[in-house]
Amino acid sequence: MGKNIAFIGLGHMGGPMAANLVKAGHRVSGFDLAPEALETARAQGIEVAGSAAAAAAGADVVISMLPAGRHVLDAYQGRDGLLDAARPGSIFLDCSTIAVKDARIAHDLATAYGHRSLDAPVSGGVTGAANGTLTFMVGGSADDFGEAEPILAAMGGRIVHCGGPGAGQAAKLCNNMILGISMIAVSEAFVLGEKLGLSNQALFDVASAASGQCWALTTNCPVPGPVPDSPANRDYQPGFAGALMAKDLGLAVQAFEATGVKARLGSLAEEIYRDFAEGEGAGRDFSGIINEIRATSGAEALP
Ligand code: NAD
Repeated sequence: MGKNIAFIGLGHMGGPMAANLVKAGHRVSGFDLAPEALETARAQGIEVAGSAAAAAAGADVVISMLPAGRHVLDAYQGRDGLLDAARPGSIFLDCSTIAVKDARIAHDLATAYGHRSLDAPVSGGVTGAANGTLTFMVGGSADDFGEAEPILAAMGGRIVHCGGPGAGQAAKLCNNMILGISMIAVSEAFVLGEKLGLSNQALFDVASAASGQCWALTTNCPVPGPVPDSPANRDYQPGFAGALMAKDLGLAVQAFEATGVKARLGSLAEEIYRDFAEGEGAGRDFSGIINEIRATSGAEALP
């Protein structure tokens, strides 16, 4: 049966996610600070509310898809905050990518108001959001997960319950740390191969069937040619933008500090993508990092 869902944050990800909830038969009341996001949402059958609190009043489920932790905590709290506006017992489902620490604060706040709460960050990007094929990594109780799963299924293809509060965010940042580091490794290997006179195709043919095999190589290959759909074949248009990789690795670094983990490669990868995102990498796919490596190695940028 269709639920009453409040959806806060109707940007690149939230807009198409909310539209998929409407298609699945839910009644969605949405809010965003940006008027253009509201216009697009209205055209997709989302009822536009006058404020976040107005969207949350009368909702069974309150979903947020906001830029960062401070936006989520600000939206939750205060006199016009979501926690106050929603009926006790509502499910709060935060799909934004935020720090594990902030996700746990959000959970504690929500439960203090008598709500249920899950962190449910996603991977799959804008294409996954539009096609309803996102992967959701979910933290919270098994009961709350069971209740939220059918709603998440309208927006995603794979839904994994990762553990208690914050576990979804923990899974997301650990996965993206693997991805960020492995893309640098693959890119350095291609530049070294080129300098040694090895063709990119030859390195791909060997490594993709050997122990160097990984997603950064076989799906998001940073050189044009071997994987025709990878962003390298379209001038590094994202895909997954360098700015988002820098953001996610920044969350990983916060977690190193909180836990005392000495992740030297993770820390270095964060610095490398931060520099990249401060330059032309902000809006380019993160695999464009290969051109930074080329530039500092005296190699020509491709294509
Ligand atoms: P976006 O900037 O396109 O959308 C965020 C929206 O939130 C904007 O429309 C903004 O106006 C709105 N907003 C900000 N504060 C608000 C408030 N207080 N009330 C209502 N609306 C508010 O960002 P996005 O790409 O949709 O990303 C959203 C989240 O998803 C981020 O946490 C991001 O890290 C994560 N994410 C993004 C991708 C991706 O490929 N874009 C992939 C995975 C995860």
